[in-house]
Amino acid sequence: MKAAVITVGDEILIGQIVDTNSGYIAKALDKIGVHVHEMLSISDDRHHILNTLAALQNRVEVVIITGGLGPTKDDVTKMTLCEYFDDHLVRNEEVEAHVIELIEKALKRPASQINKDQALVPSKSTVLRNAVGTAPGMWLHKGNTVFISLPGVPYEMKYLIDNEVVPRLVKEFERPYILHKTILTYGQGESIVAERIEDWENNLPAFVKLAYLPSPGKVRLRLSTQGADEVLLRDTLEAETAKLKDIIGDIIVGFDEDETIEVVLGKLLTQKSLTLAAAESCTGGRIAQTLTSVPGSSVYFKGSAVTYATASKVAILGVPQSSIDEHSVVSAAVAEAMALGAQKVFGSDYAVATTGNAGPAKGEADAGVGTVYIGVATPTGVYSEKFDFGQPREKVIERAAGKALEMIYQEILKN
Ligand code: ATP
Ligand code: MG
Repeated sequence: MKAAVITVGDEILIGQIVDTNSGYIAKALDKIGVHVHEMLSISDDRHHILNTLAALQNRVEVVIITGGLGPTKDDVTKMTLCEYFDDHLVRNEEVEAHVIELIEKALKRPASQINKDQALVPSKSTVLRNAVGTAPGMWLHKGNTVFISLPGVPYEMKYLIDNEVVPRLVKEFERPYILHKTILTYGQGESIVAERIEDWENNLPAFVKLAYLPSPGKVRLRLSTQGADEVLLRDTLEAETAKLKDIIGDIIVGFDEDETIEVVLGKLLTQKSLTLAAAESCTGGRIAQTLTSVPGSSVYFKGSAVTYATASKVAILGVPQSSIDEHSVVSAAVAEAMALGAQKVFGSDYAVATTGNAGPAKGEADAGVGTVYIGVATPTGVYSEKFDFGQPREKVIERAAGKALEMIYQEILKN
């Protein structure tokens, strides 16, 4: 079963807002076995909308349109829908009562005519109740296609997708089962991972598809399968994942769709009642920011010292000036001294430190652009590793922070 998602709005086309609605909708549809075949962003323009609807009709079973439903004149979707469905607007009393109540409650003023006109809907449409906003969703049939129009405001769109659209699609259409399994690996590049699992990949059953989803420092592997027999699909995914564990168990850190290294590390630290601190130079706080993005991180994360200037490394972390003079500030010795300093200052079990040159220009140290040393202090010792994270600057920072977390994760796994 195929679907298309259309986002309407000039704001998207001039780059003022980024379309996040399509991704949300695609995820929701994918979960119920509806395959998003196309995503389009088009202008608030009558002709453009009409042509797009006509082109999709009978080519996909479901078209979801977001945006352009507001009461202002630049929102043309509703009028254009009327035109496309050869229909006229009628006042929906339930929606009008809801709009009046919502406006009076939220804004403490009577609803204006413009507000009340949100209750005008094409007579042929089924209204999808929008409990969190004034513009209702609309569900219309033409040919072999269902057209669903939703407001563009993301939380309103989400409410309608979750509470109205998905339940109705599930009821109205028979769909195959689609199951996914995500495997998160850390620390090896896509090509190395691909090489290691080549045989396994070549022997996957035909109804199982594998996707590589790489991002700096990590590769997410996603197995997808589709069919009528849910038990078979589930068992197959489990069996293939088990085989994969035997091959690359050393770099697998999790199986959850939303699992990240910081989440996995957090769980491990909590489970073992261990604490972590950081000392950051070239990552400028990225390690701390990443760790604290996880709710509950206060249990195990003690803090990070962003010691950007050489003098701060000495003053705050107690890095010996002699070390800096002898090895330069971007060096193994300094990374290790920083990690030990953070461990002491914050009183943590483990500490991780970064010192490097993120570029684009060479800094005060002699190290090449992209060179980063990461130091790890453990309860029993300290060590460091040297990396070349290339360029540009943003990539160096991201990869260094990711690598630092991964090194701590691997270290704690050992104990
Ligand atoms: P409103 O009643 O607020 O006018 P609407 O249905 O007319 O709702 P739009 O005017 O298209 O929707 O968008 C309203 C706001 O919602 C936009 O300014 C933007 O902030 C956000 N928005 C719209 N479309 C998207 C999208 N595809 N992705 C993310 N945000 C969006
Ligand atoms: Mg609008």
